[in-house]
Amino acid sequence: MGEPGGQQGVPMTGYFTDERHDVLRKEVQDFAEREIRPRIPEMEQTKTVHHRLSKMIAEQGWLGVTIGQEYGGMGLGHLAKTIIIEELSRVSGAMGAMVQASQLGVAKILHFGNQVQKRAWLPAIASGRCLPTIAVTESASGGHVLGMRATAVRDGSDYVLNGHKVFVGNSHVGDLHGVVVRTGPGSKGLSAFLVESDRPGFTLAPQQSTMGLHGFSFGELLFNDCRVPATNMLGTEGDGLAVAYSSSILYGRANLTAVSLGIHQAILDTTVQYASERRLYGKPIAELDNIKQKIGQIQSRLMTARITAYHAVHLLDQGLPCDVELMNAKLVNVESALDSAREAMEIHAAAGLSTDRPVERYLRDAFHIFAPAGTSDIQRLRLAEEALGRAKGQWSERIVCGEPIAIG
Ligand SMILES: Cc1cc2nc3c(=O)[nH]c(=O)nc-3n(C[C@H](O)[C@H](O)[C@H](O)COP(=O)(O)OP(=O)(O)OC[C@H]3O[C@@H](n4cnc5c(N)ncnc54)[C@H](O)[C@@H]3O)c2cc1C
Repeated sequence: MGEPGGQQGVPMTGYFTDERHDVLRKEVQDFAEREIRPRIPEMEQTKTVHHRLSKMIAEQGWLGVTIGQEYGGMGLGHLAKTIIIEELSRVSGAMGAMVQASQLGVAKILHFGNQVQKRAWLPAIASGRCLPTIAVTESASGGHVLGMRATAVRDGSDYVLNGHKVFVGNSHVGDLHGVVVRTGPGSKGLSAFLVESDRPGFTLAPQQSTMGLHGFSFGELLFNDCRVPATNMLGTEGDGLAVAYSSSILYGRANLTAVSLGIHQAILDTTVQYASERRLYGKPIAELDNIKQKIGQIQSRLMTARITAYHAVHLLDQGLPCDVELMNAKLVNVESALDSAREAMEIHAAAGLSTDRPVERYLRDAFHIFAPAGTSDIQRLRLAEEALGRAKGQWSERIVCGEPIAIG
């Protein structure tokens, strides 16, 4: 049963975007329709990570969208990144999630890597030869980053890592893991290391079955006396919390917003198509007032969601403070995509339950975007802190794209 291949519905040039963005959007749309859409049934059936497709996407150079041209990247910034992730997610939330997760891996090298690390890794990522990740979460600590237990202990010119990380985006396709672990007590006791996936002592737990995002992997990394040279440390000892927070707040929230946005657009596209084709009482159900109301509501949510998404990353590209806008964009996009997914299912009624149609996949995939980089409760808590005047400064003020970071 047809998945909509339409490219209508997205404003091609707007207040935030220019012609370069429009060209890029078209390029990603064409790739997604040609290479990703035909592989969706396979990904849905096998429910395992799609190595070949992940590699093909990396080879387009899109993982290097925020990497400067001096390192072989596109140097196009966060709005262009949003458009790439949005258009991939419009066809496959899994492949949008693949690019979004790799971008957190890029962030930590851009902002905390030294010149040697940047020269070693950024060109490889930009050309698609290396897929990076960021690994912070542990099963016991979840969103409480300081509760983590994995350790790195100095031994001569090496560090020895022990412990595990869970829900790591691109776990099973990643070549270079950015791992945050304990090197001491308290908030200054976290440090970040680059761990190549072929290091002795590093293994992957088998991929677990998940509700959605089939084709993407967010699994478990295991470290058992895994030895890495001290030169693999990002920044200095104690920078781990800053690596984790800045990647999540500045990149993670924006990227997951973009995944939600793409899924949301797909929800509208597929629902409009269904409501126009399904006939009752001698006319398409799109002519029924209640269905029109629901479609109008989805359209309204999507327009609001897109504005919050583009506005937040536009500010980020301008080097302006935007932590609050990024939180709001993630909250609005995740929640409104979920609301629209529910209404789309209602419009499809029984037909929506069929796995031959894409709408149930959109609902499942949309749920996956809720937890990472802060649940909606966490975004609301942080927004309340801002409103109450209790916020403790903004990461977007501390970090300038591509520049070293100065933590206050
Ligand atoms: C698709 C996907 C991709 C991911 N990618 C990565 C990745 O690349 N790297 C990585 O390290 N991790 C990744 N994660 C993990 C993600 O960061 C965690 O899911 C997130 O930190 C929340 O942890 P948790 O799911 O264990 O929930 P928990 O932290 O256990 O939260 C449980 C509940 O408690 C609430 N809660 C938590 N803290 C507070 C608080 N302070 N105040 C009030 N309520 C609170 C939450 O809102 C939630 O409802 C990914 C997860 C998913 C689903």
